Amino acid sequence: MKNRMFRMFTLLFAVAVLFLPLSGQAAQTRIQAKNVILLIGDGMGPSQFGAAWIYSNRVLMRDLRMSELMKKGRTAYLVNDTADAIVTESAAAAGQIATGQRMTARALSMAADGKTPVKTILEMVKEKKLATGLVTTSGITDATPAAFAAHVAHRSNEESVADQELKFGVDVLMGGRKQFFLPESAGGKRKDGRNLLEEAQKAGYTVAGTAEELKAAPTGKVLGLFNMSNMSFEIDRAATQEPSLAEMTRKTLQILSKNKRGFFAMIEGGRIDHAAHRNDAPATIRDTLAFDEAVGVAMDFVKKNPATLLIVTADHETGGMALIGHSKESKEYIGMNLKAIEKATASFEAMVGKWGKKPTPEMIKEDVKQSLGIDLTDDEARTVADDTIKKLDPYNYGYDYLHSLGFVLRPYLRVGWGSQTHTASPLFLFGSGPGSEKIGGLLHNTESFKIMKAALRLK
Ligand SMILES: [Zn+2]
Repeated sequence: MKNRMFRMFTLLFAVAVLFLPLSGQAAQTRIQAKNVILLIGDGMGPSQFGAAWIYSNRVLMRDLRMSELMKKGRTAYLVNDTADAIVTESAAAAGQIATGQRMTARALSMAADGKTPVKTILEMVKEKKLATGLVTTSGITDATPAAFAAHVAHRSNEESVADQELKFGVDVLMGGRKQFFLPESAGGKRKDGRNLLEEAQKAGYTVAGTAEELKAAPTGKVLGLFNMSNMSFEIDRAATQEPSLAEMTRKTLQILSKNKRGFFAMIEGGRIDHAAHRNDAPATIRDTLAFDEAVGVAMDFVKKNPATLLIVTADHETGGMALIGHSKESKEYIGMNLKAIEKATASFEAMVGKWGKKPTPEMIKEDVKQSLGIDLTDDEARTVADDTIKKLDPYNYGYDYLHSLGFVLRPYLRVGWGSQTHTASPLFLFGSGPGSEKIGGLLHNTESFKIMKAALRLK
């Protein structure tokens, strides 16, 4: 009996030893990602996230999909300083995520000499014949998508970016700033007289200009340009004209997943940043929620396609957003005014756009009442009309009327702003899927490139 047991153990041991290298290999194959979906909330710092989290849980009565992903997957803090600055802008930040190297301000995936292109992860996956996609609610020629597919010395050269994105052959391009694809004679901004929409069609792209056209587009290459300028803030968006970020994400994943080798998609909530630049709390929150919906679409895709590394992060925080405690009436701790945020029906940008060059305090009072449901005092309306905040600190508060409006609304909305521009606040980076085991602790944004590269086994 003892002898038989011994023989059985020996046999089992031998079998285990025999299969050990195989199972190791199987585990290695398992951790290779076929697809990478990178979602970037432009300007989405911890306060933007926190404001959307509170709003979602207490007004919409549901948790964020982002918190679901954080709970299921892995989360890290992310820092983002660059080669030449402590506070970054989107070009350097996106370049660092796209290339893994420290960048200088406003250059797009270029070495510090301003001339030498640095290879991006999108170029690497293209060499491996994976499908590629870039999607944003900002301009498709804006810094974040541009850093993945283009190399220019200064991000303002958007004519060249549009050209390079099409030459690259990115399979899916969706966003705003159609103006950089059209010649001046057709209402665009191209000085070279070229019509890139026609050129794209000849190169095999379906060109879509509305939400309906996008829905109807076949699953080949798509160039979706839904606004001459940036796409609308979520709070102002007409759903028949412009698709939501979630709709664009769904279509993108549907198209890219046709490639049997896999794909890389960068999907950006580009206007969280723009709303925060304008110190506009309701628009910031709505755009963060629209971004969250897109994260949800990606999470649902991952459920059916588990060989996908899903990463959600931000490039930088914008505005020094702070959820402050006290109201107009008392020093009791209360926090963000959810009812007022819920009532807001227009972005600050749309409001100021209606005011003209010299708005009167009366006009401002009336519009704030109508668009935000808030009764400003005469002093407050005058502070906005005089644009006091901009006069006091023009470089940190540069937009006309918006910061003065943001300032007088502080005790009503209980949201404050430290600046008109980006800050060095640490960010989140979280995700799931093969390769996500490296997410944790404190990461630098150059390391997000390394995580994606390792997950796809790129050399
Ligand atoms: Zn910005």
